[in-house]
Amino acid sequence: MQLYNKLSAKEREALLEEAGEDRLTLSFYAYAKIGNPELFRNHLFIAWDQMDVLGRIYVAHEGINAQLSVPARRFNEFKKFIDEIYFLENVRLNIAIEHDIKSFLKLKVKVRKKIVADGLNDDTFDVTNKGIHVDANRFNELINDPNTILVDMRNHYESEIGHFQGAITPDVDTFRDSLDIIEEDLKDHKEDKNLVMYCTGGIRCEKASAYYKHKGFQNVYQLEGGIIEYTRQVENQQLENKFIGKNFVFDHRRAERISEDVIAQCHQCGKACDTHVNCANEACHLLFIQCEECAEKMDNCCSTDCKEIHALPYEEQKALRKGKGASNKIFKKGRSEVLRYKQ
Ligand SMILES: [Zn+2]
Ligand SMILES: [Zn+2]
Repeated sequence: MQLYNKLSAKEREALLEEAGEDRLTLSFYAYAKIGNPELFRNHLFIAWDQMDVLGRIYVAHEGINAQLSVPARRFNEFKKFIDEIYFLENVRLNIAIEHDIKSFLKLKVKVRKKIVADGLNDDTFDVTNKGIHVDANRFNELINDPNTILVDMRNHYESEIGHFQGAITPDVDTFRDSLDIIEEDLKDHKEDKNLVMYCTGGIRCEKASAYYKHKGFQNVYQLEGGIIEYTRQVENQQLENKFIGKNFVFDHRRAERISEDVIAQCHQCGKACDTHVNCANEACHLLFIQCEECAEKMDNCCSTDCKEIHALPYEEQKALRKGKGASNKIFKKGRSEVLRYKQ
């Protein structure tokens, strides 16, 4: 039984280019009780590997969270397979609008403690007591209501390049941080206002809405399927689009453009720009926004230090990294004192 990727990302990329066939980028999640996540993981890997499915999937005792790329011609087979898993039958599949055959280059199914790193102690509240799910049409009505407080449940680097008009966008690095900040800001309106929340695909709101209800908020709503599903419904039903800019996504496309507005700025020169990149110095890898001119000037790096390291022969770079571990903010997303326009 083969339970790992036989191909490297590069080999896979070449194969995908050669085949040139249509692929669908999609995501789904479900909270469910999974007794043996390892076994479930192997079951998924074997089936999906055969179907040529690629992606990043997290499996835990609490459920599954999957981001995938599926060959279009095998979609029915894929759908049939997941419909046969009782807690995934008719699960909503968020299908991306922009199609990119190379959105994922490997199939990674990982067993985790949780499907979302939310930092919450779930035993303290009832996670099934969720907010009211609303579709795009109802969501638009709600956010036109002056009695509504609209909250973006994503992190700063996500809302920075795109968000709903009028939303509160907490300047936070983690989901856990935003929960407390929002609660503190809104504590006087637990009963009289509508608390309406949204995130990328809806999964973060599943927990957040239950958390706020536990904290005493009376009128809690969440956007069903998140920004991804909203955009689809807006297109299909010709609704007014209230999202400006880009939707940050977690595959290598990094974002989907929803409206033509560019609401962010290059972190190095300050001019209008909403293209996220990772610093080319592999020891840094900082996620930040960089315009084309700065990319050229800085050799795709975040700082002159990184530029110097990046210019060294690969072996020397490796020697420099040795024993340094993650000292260079590898896991720090989107903030650094070296960035003039984002700290
Ligand atoms: Zn720039
Ligand atoms: Zn850097």
